[in-house]
Amino acid sequence: MDNILTVGGALVGFTRCAPTVSASNKTASQIYPNYGLNTPDEAARVTEFRKKLAVKLKAPIIWMEQTHSAEVATIKATELSENLESNENTVKADAVIVPAGTVAAVQIADCVPVIIIDPTLKLVAAVHAGRAGIEKEILAHTITKLVAAGSNPKNLYSAVGPCICENCYEVGEEIYQKYVDQFPNGGARTSWGTKSIRLRAIVVEQLKEMGIENIYHDQACTFESEDLNSYRKEPACGRQIGWAYFPTPETTP
Ligand SMILES: [Zn+2]
Repeated sequence: MDNILTVGGALVGFTRCAPTVSASNKTASQIYPNYGLNTPDEAARVTEFRKKLAVKLKAPIIWMEQTHSAEVATIKATELSENLESNENTVKADAVIVPAGTVAAVQIADCVPVIIIDPTLKLVAAVHAGRAGIEKEILAHTITKLVAAGSNPKNLYSAVGPCICENCYEVGEEIYQKYVDQFPNGGARTSWGTKSIRLRAIVVEQLKEMGIENIYHDQACTFESEDLNSYRKEPACGRQIGWAYFPTPETTP
């Protein structure tokens, strides 16, 4: 079941996949829904899942072509295709800020999906915060854009979704050192004793540094959960998403 929360007056969803017959037999074609077009799955099938969600939420969804960049897109209502069945609302970015009545979505399969909400301006942001994005400070870039739009960080809320946890995210020496040099609290050990890094804890650290105190969590670990895709576990996996929006009278599901 998808985890749906109300955070700062906005609706936030972290999707789950249907339980599978065998965890060792996971592929993109077997775990649904899959929202990722950059997977081995058929594009037509992924597009169908995307359309279904837009129809269910009664609002257009902004999809991102994510590349682990620090690129933040801001969407104005006038730029949107109102056709819920359309897949046209796609931007090349790793964070997107949308107005009320529009859904922001971030695709994930181990990286951290972060939602940021401004209850006053009724803006939501969806952020793709993997290791690379965290290192490039994509959260700070997103919050800076919100502040430029008039947000006060003290009034912002955040929801941090399922990602690979520090007990499971094994990394090599070079990646570990670079990460820990940048984030002294970023190092950990896997449950089998090797070096790992902490994504969620550093995301929280970065949100707090930018002034956000109201932070909600969906604590599931993608690597350990049967109903979540993990790229580490299966590189051919699909993508779950984090989505968020302020429904308007027309878009209330
Ligand atoms: Zn884990």
